[in-house]
Amino acid sequence: MKFSLLGNIIDFLFPRYCAICDERLLGTEEMLCATCLQDLPITPTWEAPYENNMAKMFWGRIPIEKSVALFYYHSHSNPSYIIYKLKYHHRPDTGNYLGRLIASKGIESDFFKDIDAIIPIPITKSRRKTRGYNQSEEIARGIQERTHLPIITDAIRRVTFTESQTQKDRWQRLENVKHVFQLSDTYHDKDGKHPITDLAGKHLLIVDDVCTTGATLISCCEELQKAGKMKFSIATIGWAAE
Ligand SMILES: [Zn+2]
Repeated sequence: MKFSLLGNIIDFLFPRYCAICDERLLGTEEMLCATCLQDLPITPTWEAPYENNMAKMFWGRIPIEKSVALFYYHSHSNPSYIIYKLKYHHRPDTGNYLGRLIASKGIESDFFKDIDAIIPIPITKSRRKTRGYNQSEEIARGIQERTHLPIITDAIRRVTFTESQTQKDRWQRLENVKHVFQLSDTYHDKDGKHPITDLAGKHLLIVDDVCTTGATLISCCEELQKAGKMKFSIATIGWAAE
């Protein structure tokens, strides 16, 4: 009773708003109002993580195990606003929240059972400086809160595009995504520093905000595999399915 009264006072003094529709949140609601949460177009990938149309994009290209996306992403659709907030409106808390939603869905279906560590897709140093955080890392942290899986952020880095590369056409850039990741010599986890080859034999969960063609995810996994043979699963917030 005491706490809910306190909660009401805090809500009154610091009103919170839904990250999709901007309506005031009620006391028990977090980040999204009940309507927007209910209206998230959850993908069916959770029902068949090994065999779904998203997983099929990776078949034969990387050693893929499971692939899931929280909801369908269409630019300018209502649910996409929370992803805009995460990427462009300085709202790292939305990433953590969405990561916890992914974790809850995955825990229901034993999705995380055989995964060793999470690797968020890196962004370039300059992007990180302007944004202030890596959105995929925020998502990974939300997943970690509920699964306690380790997060590895320094096994791979994203190289800055040069001036000439940004002027290339779409196809050249697609081709270029192949070379934007660079494997490190070492990585850190909770047990300390390891040679990169210690990643061999691991089952890694690669986390990204939105999956469209899968090209970025594939090129990241290809680069990681230079450290040795490993297995990948993929989890994203949005899936821009055709
Ligand atoms: Zn709402």
